[in-house]
Amino acid sequence: MPNKDPLILGIDLGGTKILSSVINPGGEMLSRDHSVTPAAEGPKGVIQAILASAERSLEGASVGIDRVSAIGVGAPGLSDTEAGILFTSPNLPGWKDVPLRDILQEKLKKRAFLINDGNAAALGEYYFGAAKGVAHFIYVTISTGIGGGIVVDGKVLKGFKGMAGEIGHMTIADDGPPCRCGNRGCWEALASGTALAKETRRRIETGADTSILSLAGGEIDQVTAHTVQSAAEKGDPLANQLILRTAHYFGVGVANLINIFNPEMIVIGGGLSNMGERLFKPAHKEVEERAFNRAYRTVRFVRAALGRNSGVLGAAAFALDEMKRAPGEPDA
Ligand SMILES: [Zn+2]
Repeated sequence: MPNKDPLILGIDLGGTKILSSVINPGGEMLSRDHSVTPAAEGPKGVIQAILASAERSLEGASVGIDRVSAIGVGAPGLSDTEAGILFTSPNLPGWKDVPLRDILQEKLKKRAFLINDGNAAALGEYYFGAAKGVAHFIYVTISTGIGGGIVVDGKVLKGFKGMAGEIGHMTIADDGPPCRCGNRGCWEALASGTALAKETRRRIETGADTSILSLAGGEIDQVTAHTVQSAAEKGDPLANQLILRTAHYFGVGVANLINIFNPEMIVIGGGLSNMGERLFKPAHKEVEERAFNRAYRTVRFVRAALGRNSGVLGAAAFALDEMKRAPGEPDA
């Protein structure tokens, strides 16, 4: 690798884990550092953990910070990408209007860029994954919550202040269950893994006849989306019915996205996507019934390709992009 290749330090800050990596412009990860997010320690402890992870990542790639041209950080929650401020995050208690970008810039003496985690993951799939070269697509991750990012004309849709693309919080049922964002009936409150587990527990508690509870060792708190999937594979009628319910709501949301954005591709990632056809076949039927026929017929559904690396790769790609757009002051 020629020495002049600009390297980027990518950081994927999650509510439970931090992943950092030194990445070259080809998307090669020259190092990888996983650590636990000390979320309970608030911003100070978490920022300390990010810096320690960054240091180990640089060591892992055998480079100094002087070889890095910029830092890209993907973070959960609502942030202003232009100002580099993380307003709030349901996964990070105690964070309120934290100027994360400037703090990292000051500590590491490098330009830094902040982006929402879902938008970062979308960019990762766009530059290095399943949506390479696809100018119009939507990345959807369905796991404990529903997140994602919208790419239009080859650019991630950031909106006025970087808050666009919160697809998990579009209202699907105006009288639906409460969402952790404060609204009710959001897509993720109805179609996520957490929503599936919650509804399953409710049904068990109201006396439903099912093998799900015994598969969870008789402990209702241990019932997860995964338990429901196992029960469905064994032919449990309630499990199948609840997965169909999830598929229904998932399909409703996808149909909305298709009608609004007319994407060429929908890239689906996240733990629940491992349910495969059991979830997606009925979801597709729902989409077919609801979306504009011409838009539905031309959209391709594909699985995400980068797994847990999409966020860190996308954060790095975002930093690289922003550097090209506004190169700023050359390094001293
Ligand atoms: Zn919500």
